[in-house]
Amino acid sequence: MVVKMVDRGRIIMGRLPKGADLLASLTRLCLEENVQLGVVRAIGAVTRARVGFYDQQHRTYRYLEFNRPHEIISLEGNISRKDGQPFVHAHIALMSEEGQMVGGHLVEGTEVFACEFVITEFIYEADNTFERIFDEETGLFLWPPRVKP
Ligand code: ZN
Repeated sequence: MVVKMVDRGRIIMGRLPKGADLLASLTRLCLEENVQLGVVRAIGAVTRARVGFYDQQHRTYRYLEFNRPHEIISLEGNISRKDGQPFVHAHIALMSEEGQMVGGHLVEGTEVFACEFVITEFIYEADNTFERIFDEETGLFLWPPRVKP
């Protein structure tokens, strides 16, 4: 289990431009603003979407593409460090024209139609608490466990 108290830093609120890649834009913003740790939320719409599903048995991501407009019902994610850089891990819930919900692990290839976001920064202390490392049990890059279960 990883537990750590963190203090809040800045709150960054804004809108991404039409045509931008949703995940790449959020990641670039974190790099430009030097957000090392935090949470991100967003709503809006996309012209197309690409999401991942982690196949736990085969330890690999499978990707789904939705090549038409969807509403962003909810984007929820965290910002931490991987390879010494800010890394955005976000999941997205989308609604089609017919009202059907789809979603998953947000990956590059999701194009913004309109997107309003809020990033809450947490104060980063230069320790490795939230530095992603390879986790043998899952095959994912996760925060290191402090206490073995
Ligand atoms: Zn994920």
